[in-house]
Amino acid sequence: MRALVSVNVGAIERNVALLAAQAPTALLCAVVKADGYGHGSSEAATAALRGGAAWLAVSTAVEAQTLRSAGIEAPILVMGALTEDELKLALSAEADVVAWSEFFVERLAALGGGRVHIKLDTGMGRLGTRDRELATRLAQQAVEAPQIELVGLMTHFATADELGDSFFDQQLAAFSDWTEEVAATAPGLIRHAANSAALLRDSASHFDLVRPGVACYGLDPFGRDPAGRGLEPAMEVSSYVACIEQCEAGESSGYGRSFIAEQATFIGTVPIGYADGWKRVFSNNAELLIAGRRFPVVGNVSMDNTTVDLGADGGGVKLGDRVTLLGTDGDARLLSEELATRAGTINYEIVTSFSARVPRRYLADALGGDR
Ligand SMILES: *Cc1c(COP(=O)(O)O)cnc(C)c1O
Repeated sequence: MRALVSVNVGAIERNVALLAAQAPTALLCAVVKADGYGHGSSEAATAALRGGAAWLAVSTAVEAQTLRSAGIEAPILVMGALTEDELKLALSAEADVVAWSEFFVERLAALGGGRVHIKLDTGMGRLGTRDRELATRLAQQAVEAPQIELVGLMTHFATADELGDSFFDQQLAAFSDWTEEVAATAPGLIRHAANSAALLRDSASHFDLVRPGVACYGLDPFGRDPAGRGLEPAMEVSSYVACIEQCEAGESSGYGRSFIAEQATFIGTVPIGYADGWKRVFSNNAELLIAGRRFPVVGNVSMDNTTVDLGADGGGVKLGDRVTLLGTDGDARLLSEELATRAGTINYEIVTSFSARVPRRYLADALGGDR
């Protein structure tokens, strides 16, 4: 296989069980948007449900429809903005939707109704309404519309991953206040706010349902080593050594000659590039694992290939050897958190970047083999 994303669904199941145990008073809604953060939406959803998730959340109507087509029957929340056509699709997929305007609630009623959650923007400044009175009115409007079922009240944190930041506490207080007000006239609603970071950081954010995404896949929302919280990364990315060339002192590798050998060395070519989601920012700026050892990426990552310096003695590397770009090989390990630091981004972007050109393979457990 040229390049492969291997997903250990057993790890997703265990991560979700761990998260559920940390929020014992809440239902767990596993966020499987963006193709399950690049891990495969229906496979991730199935693993999450086995791990104890009661709900699933996605961003788009098509994502909800994809889960239904895979035979998944759990409640699904579509969290994103919806056009009229997308709303119709979400409703036909029997998904819950989120409202923050009178226009949307009216449109929902006109389409025959459905299950809705009202979103108060307590400071994220993205989707929702910052107008608490409007949010309360929308809840009332939904309760009064005969075909609409008001299911939940929600918000989303902007800084839950910044430990010690007090803006999080302000958002939490604003949401608590509002839900108490609404509960006085509409009791029994599902209140939900916590993403992975909030879930792990403060049980006061758990309310009735938690919405972790990234941590379900074994990534640390704080950008640290996930093992510190008992999380297991579910994704591994591998390729192989397709070509080994001798490179004399003064010779170069790749577009733009950004690597020129100072001394004679061997260059291995790995057939994965930025069109596969292995970012160009890793040019001269990452390490790969071969036979349990780290080797530096040298030269510019191109669309389809990456070159690696095997050293003056060739490092004992042979044509066809497996290359790990993300994951473990023996005692060596490459985390998406490390790649994120190198790329100046977050682990979320690393795992969601691997493109459709890279096939996915699913393992029940990564330990031991079936490579
Ligand atoms: C993506 C998302 C989540 C999950 O966030 P993580 O940081 O991945 O846990 C929860 N809620 C909303 C509204 C989201 O958009």
